[in-house]
Amino acid sequence: RIITSTPVSFKEEELERALRPKHLDEYVGQEKIRGQLQIFIEAARRRREALDHVLLFGPPGLGKTTLAHIIAREMGVSLRQTSGPVLERPGDLAALLTNLEPNDVLFIDEIHRLSPVVEEILYPALEDYQLDIMIGEGPAARSVKLDLPPFTLVGATTRAGMLTNPLRDRFGIISRLEFYSVEELTKIVTRSASLLNAEISPEGATEIARRSRGTPRIVNRLLRRVRDFAEVKASGHITRQVADAALIMLDVDAIGLDVMDRKLLLTVMEKFGGGPVGVDNLAAAISEERGTIEDVLEPYLIQQGYMKRTPRGRMATAIAYQHFGLALPKIGLN
Ligand code: ADP
Repeated sequence: RIITSTPVSFKEEELERALRPKHLDEYVGQEKIRGQLQIFIEAARRRREALDHVLLFGPPGLGKTTLAHIIAREMGVSLRQTSGPVLERPGDLAALLTNLEPNDVLFIDEIHRLSPVVEEILYPALEDYQLDIMIGEGPAARSVKLDLPPFTLVGATTRAGMLTNPLRDRFGIISRLEFYSVEELTKIVTRSASLLNAEISPEGATEIARRSRGTPRIVNRLLRRVRDFAEVKASGHITRQVADAALIMLDVDAIGLDVMDRKLLLTVMEKFGGGPVGVDNLAAAISEERGTIEDVLEPYLIQQGYMKRTPRGRMATAIAYQHFGLALPKIGLN
C-alpha cells in the first residue's frame, strides 16, 4: 500500500510515477549523494545487511521520493511509504514496522511532522531494531517489547533544521539535495519527452529546462503543458518558439519565475521598500503560509540571487530590481 502526501490529481500522479527513474544510473545530477549511495549500497549488499538510515532534505520536487524508491530497488528489497502527518498514533508506526521484511526500506515523507509520541518509539527501532509499545488501556495496559527485522529508514524533509536533534542523530547518511542545472534539467526533460512520445527539439528542451526553477518536478509538469499546447497549436512539435509561447501562456516569465515568485518579490520591493521585512509580515501581505514561503518559494529565489535572508528579514537584491525594471530605492539596499 502506498500512501502519498502530495495532493495532485490521479492522472498527474500516474504520469509522475511513469517518469520516475528506476535505477541510480538513470538518476540525473546530485553527483555527491549518488556517488556515496553507490558505495554504501554495494557494501551493505555484500554484507547482506540493511543500509544505514538515510535522511534526504531539500525543497519539494528535487527527487527525494524518487531516490528512496531507487535505494530499495538497488538493495533488492521492498519499500513501504508513509508520511509524518499520517502516522498519528504509535500503533500506526508499529503496524508498519512489524510488517517489514529484513532489510526493507521504510520511507517517511515530511518526517519533521511526526508527532512526538511516534518519534519516541522510533528511536529504539532505529537504534536497536526494537519496538517498545503500550498495549491496551487503563489498568490492563502493559508494555510490550518486540524485536524488529533490520530495516532502513529513509526520511525526507524540506528542511533539516525542523528535525529534533535526537532524530537527526540517528541517521547515518544525511544528504541535502541541490537545485539542478539547466544541463541536467535538459537531460531530464529530453528523457521524459521520449517516454511521453513527444517530439521536442534540443532548443525546445533547453527552453523548458531554463524556466523550471531548477526542479525536476516542474520541468516534467511544464513539459506536459507545453506538449498540450504544441498538439493544439503546432502539430505536436515542441520547438523553442512553441515552448516560449506556451510558457508565456502559463504565466512563467523569461527566467522561469511563476506568479507566486513574482508576487513575493514585488511585495518586498513595492510594499516594503525592498526590505528587510520579517517572513511573517511577508506571509500576511501575500496571504500565503509562512512555511510555503520558506520551503517552496524563497529557496530558489535566494539561490538565484533575487532575494537575501538577513537577521532583520528578507531583502530584494539589485538583480531583482533589474529583472522587474524597477528603480533601486535610495537607501538601505545591499
Ligand atoms: P520530492 O520527493 O523531492 O518532492 P520526487 O522524487 O517526487 O521529489 O520527484 C519529482 C519528479 O521529478 C519525479 O516524478 C521524477 O520523475 C523527477 N525527478 C526527480 N529527480 C530526478 C532525477 N534526479 N532525475 C530524473 N528525474 C527526476
